[in-house]
Amino acid sequence: MRSVRSHGNRSTELALRTIFRSHHVTGWRRHIPLTGKPDFAFATARLVVFVDGCFWHGCPQCYRNPKANKKFWVEKHRYNRARDVTVSRVLRGSGWRVLRLWENELRDADAVAQKVKQKLNQRA
Ligand SMILES: [Zn+2]
Repeated sequence: MRSVRSHGNRSTELALRTIFRSHHVTGWRRHIPLTGKPDFAFATARLVVFVDGCFWHGCPQCYRNPKANKKFWVEKHRYNRARDVTVSRVLRGSGWRVLRLWENELRDADAVAQKVKQKLNQRA
């Protein structure tokens, strides 16, 4: 976990971009100025995609509390998750559909591509 940084989750972003490329998922853009700075946005399909880092967002599947500063991390994740919920709500309120993926899901490229394609097909 030492290499995890709080901002600019570039490695997960790149991993997802590679999956999009290899599975012919098109129509996305990055760095669209929206609430919460989604990693990817499909403007035509009104879909935004976030990749949440397992450590920073407290993934229920992978995350284990560090022994040191336990209180700090519990608070930190409570805060991050509450913010995620708010961001999703704001985006939905302005007509976007929100897809959140966990970092560890990216290991299964086929499943991730499938998930995104499914969302793209069921256009609002
Ligand atoms: Zn995870």
